[in-house]
Amino acid sequence: MKSPVPDRRLTENFRTHEFLVSKDHPRLARKLRPTAYHVSNLHLLSVTILQPVRTHFGVPVIPLSGYRDYWLNDAVGGHKESLHPEAKAADFTTPDVTMLPAMFEYILEELPFAWSQLIYYADRNFVHVGLPHLGAPRICEVRGRNDVQRFGG
Ligand SMILES: [Zn+2]
Repeated sequence: MKSPVPDRRLTENFRTHEFLVSKDHPRLARKLRPTAYHVSNLHLLSVTILQPVRTHFGVPVIPLSGYRDYWLNDAVGGHKESLHPEAKAADFTTPDVTMLPAMFEYILEELPFAWSQLIYYADRNFVHVGLPHLGAPRICEVRGRNDVQRFGG
């Protein structure tokens, strides 16, 4: 069953449906019904962070998770105050995961005002980015299997 949500083009390389996904819970992901508010946040994520990364590196940037309703956020063990239910966060990877550290650094150095959360999950091969959000503390970290490296951001 395909999602009945319109698959809108957000930027040159990103569309709404790419943010309505879950590898572990595909059936829940198909039940996602983002509002106009959520879609505009996905647009902002694409315009200010993901498309600049895609354009700079010239390789696919693949969202693993974007918008999650609260039930999907619970199902994937997401943090209670996660920005995913606001559609203000995305987890992404790229086919060549050795490029992820450079992508993390690019977002850190070149797009410093676009995010409030930037976390590179080095042991799981994805980067989480969250948009600025009132009251959300700024977080910039590299998380490994056994350690966390924090950056001033
Ligand atoms: Zn995330």
